[in-house]
Amino acid sequence: MCEAAVLCEIDPKDRMTLLHANLFLASLSSENRDFLLDRSTPVVLPLRTVLYEAEEVPTHAYFMTSGIASVVSTMSNGATAEVGVVGREGIVGSLQLLGPGRVPTHCFMQLDGTALKIPFSELKKAFRSSEEIRDRIQEFVQEQALSLSQLAGCNRFHEAEERLARWLLMVQDRTQSDVLNLTQEFLAMMLGSQRSTVTLVAGSLQRSGLIEYQRGRVKIVNRENLEAAACDCYQVTKHLYANLYKQRASGVGN
Ligand SMILES: [Zn+2]
Repeated sequence: MCEAAVLCEIDPKDRMTLLHANLFLASLSSENRDFLLDRSTPVVLPLRTVLYEAEEVPTHAYFMTSGIASVVSTMSNGATAEVGVVGREGIVGSLQLLGPGRVPTHCFMQLDGTALKIPFSELKKAFRSSEEIRDRIQEFVQEQALSLSQLAGCNRFHEAEERLARWLLMVQDRTQSDVLNLTQEFLAMMLGSQRSTVTLVAGSLQRSGLIEYQRGRVKIVNRENLEAAACDCYQVTKHLYANLYKQRASGVGN
């Protein structure tokens, strides 16, 4: 396959860097990791790149190696809300592996990044034939589902300012970067609020010395206090994220 050929031409050093950049791939046995790598192509994903559309079976899945993909729900009146984020811990397109149900969300790049792109049919074959790959993918999808159930309550009960703090921390955990290039439009989508609300709550966090906010750019300047400003949901999702793939890696699992 040409896509595998592209990856085979990559310097072995780069190949090692890529597989360690994605936490799911890094957690696999070398046999399964190489199987997936041989069928994948490294790609650059600019801001707003669509990774899958609502109601459609995706053509490809993505092992994220940097950046942030945003899972977004769109209402019938056109209003949108972010319902999930996927960074280097995950696989975009994994939810569609679990069954025949059409996924009503769509997914696009919210912070530009990179990934290893694999034909969806190849990942589906691997999902069916390898117990290890299936277990790890299910573990990731479970982490997403448990986070989402927490965030459903968060979006209903918590104020915009503490939700913004929680979300910025979640993104920083996945990018390991203090500076996040995020437009006001994206922040409004994430909060499910008007842009004027974003200006208000980001301004408040800035006045408290937790972030620096300019149009299209957020810098986290005091992470400790930002954690204190975030709602409890951050600690719940942080725990889920931190424990992802850990059970097998430490030899505790089956
Ligand atoms: Zn919350």
